[in-house]
Amino acid sequence: MTRDSLTQPLPPPADTPCAVCGRVSPAAVEIGYRDGTVLYACPQHAGTAAPGPLPHELGVAG
Ligand SMILES: [Zn+2]
Repeated sequence: MTRDSLTQPLPPPADTPCAVCGRVSPAAVEIGYRDGTVLYACPQHAGTAAPGPLPHELGVAG
């Protein structure tokens, strides 16, 4: 084990479905965070998936 192996980001869970198409992808990437859950998308949808709601989208001022 090297020090780098401890600082690498953890890969997404292998059984996490894409938030867009629902398919499970071993190469899913994190696209957002909602209701305490990290959202993932497959590479095909990672670039097109809308991120989680932003403050201005929820009508929160400031
Ligand atoms: Zn997808």
